[in-house]
Amino acid sequence: MLTNLAQQPADALLALIKLHNADPRADKIDLGVGVYRTDTGATPVFAAIKAAEAKLLETQDSKAYLGPEGDMGFVHALMPYVFGAANPTMDGRIDGMQTPGGTGGVRLAVALAKKAGVQRIWMGTPSWPNHAQIFADLGLELKTFNHATKAGVVDMDALRAALAEAGPQDAVLLHGCCHNPTGIDYSHADWDEIAALIAARGVLPVLDLAYQGLGKGMEEDAYGVRRVLAAVPEALIAYSCDKNFGMYRDRVGAVYAMVADPAQLNAVLSNGHALARAAWSMPPDHGAAAVRLILEDAAMTKLWLDELDVMRARMNKVRAKLAEAGSAGAIDLKPLGGQNGLFSILPLTSEQILKLRTDHGIYMAGSGRINVAGLTMGNIDKFIADLATVSA
Ligand code: PMP
Repeated sequence: MLTNLAQQPADALLALIKLHNADPRADKIDLGVGVYRTDTGATPVFAAIKAAEAKLLETQDSKAYLGPEGDMGFVHALMPYVFGAANPTMDGRIDGMQTPGGTGGVRLAVALAKKAGVQRIWMGTPSWPNHAQIFADLGLELKTFNHATKAGVVDMDALRAALAEAGPQDAVLLHGCCHNPTGIDYSHADWDEIAALIAARGVLPVLDLAYQGLGKGMEEDAYGVRRVLAAVPEALIAYSCDKNFGMYRDRVGAVYAMVADPAQLNAVLSNGHALARAAWSMPPDHGAAAVRLILEDAAMTKLWLDELDVMRARMNKVRAKLAEAGSAGAIDLKPLGGQNGLFSILPLTSEQILKLRTDHGIYMAGSGRINVAGLTMGNIDKFIADLATVSA
């Protein structure tokens, strides 16, 4: 029976990590996998997480099962940051559950949409590759539109045309901030328009917020999510703490549902619980418990927010330096200064990407996506020079 299973392609980015690790060149640069790096190239555990983990070790008195919803203290502690401190439950219309990472959040959000009757989902491309994989695995029809124009700005016309065709049986997936892989985000005016269009068409929004705080700040990065939620009766929100708390492998995430009438919320969430039970039963506890301890403690919260500010400032410094360089050969670097988060896309051919790797030890995804946090004040000049060489 198992011989029926054909070989699947290896994950391209994970294969790239292996190639990078095997490269003996001292000045090699890893711009592949999406993790934050310091100016010395490290991806350290946050001091706030270390403090929370120490407290957890001391105070945790049981590891008995919690339930498919996970740590609801964690789920609720995040809500003021996502939905606003003034009315984090939108008058009792929003609640959620813990998921294994933001991936679990996206998976559950889309599975809930499907179970509720959604058959088609719209999404701007390019996108995080796992979005399309999750839709395909759930048997949803994917309708795509262009996320950004060649000039490196959001393609609002494409989005308008998509939403004009979409209807009440459809969902639309939008990145809340720090678009992966382009770094090209909607402006406030764009979000205002998008919120109105989604509401007018009756499309179900699925909002993926995986990088809150890595763009312009925790509050600013929530603008789009909050704007859409204020305009529509129902929505699903997938959240990841794996970047903004540096928890990657500990898999910390959540899914939230907003309903029109608070009386419907329990029924919706009970479907989330049933879907989780059939998939992973319960989410891993440790990371979410550590995040909860941080958010329950004012001093630890401040420590975490300060660490997040340092990360964001460093990425903005790298972006500013790239923009300041203006161009590298035929590549215009100026747009990178106005983009957000870990990623940007460089308009390189596959030959140029390969040449950067083989001749210069610079590793990036086959799409031309770079992790700007892989650049440091020590390697950025080499990067710009090598980019100029291959693209001249
Ligand atoms: N959504 C987007 C847009 C992402 O880029 C990612 C991670 N790369 C996720 C969701 C999921 O994050 P994780 O499962 O690692 O929490």
